[in-house]
Amino acid sequence: MNFDGVNEKTLVLIKPDAIQRGLTGEIISRFERKGIKMVGIKMMGLDDDLLKQHYSHLADKSFFPSLVKFMKSSPIIAVCFEGLEVVNAVRLLCGITKAREAEAGSIRGDLAMSVSCNVVHASDSTENAKKEVERFFKADEIHDYSKSDYEHVYAEDER
Ligand code: UDP
Ligand code: MG
Repeated sequence: MNFDGVNEKTLVLIKPDAIQRGLTGEIISRFERKGIKMVGIKMMGLDDDLLKQHYSHLADKSFFPSLVKFMKSSPIIAVCFEGLEVVNAVRLLCGITKAREAEAGSIRGDLAMSVSCNVVHASDSTENAKKEVERFFKADEIHDYSKSDYEHVYAEDER
């Protein structure tokens, strides 16, 4: 069976607040239940260099130093997910940045109250997703395998 059409990838970070609050399993299971395929996962500590690259679009914001401090406050879990239009699907599951206004049912909407401590990061475009996956994962940390439920997750004309 050919699933070449559904191999778009995106990066999710489970942030320090979620690690501290014991929400890792809950968050990952929401993506799993959606039918999204996990192709890479690791716990890691972030350093200033990596955070400066990752949040370069926010470098001139007043909250940048506290964001960096927060993201270094404990390890994070980086996850690479794969699927059809998965960048957009994952952003929708996460909800908007300001968690206390995020839609109920979304990860941020259900699990967080803060703008900063909003439990997850998700890539915001296919272009950025490609860069971010490469930033957080080596090529041999991304796994190419077939998933037995795909015949029921995607219709034939979507694969
Ligand atoms: N952030 C913050 N204060 C703000 C805006 C953003 O602390 O006023 C943090 C928050 O953790 C957010 C991250 O910076 O998730 C990245 O901001 P971005 O605008 O890219 O939001 P996201 O893509 O995470 O929804
Ligand atoms: Mg962002």
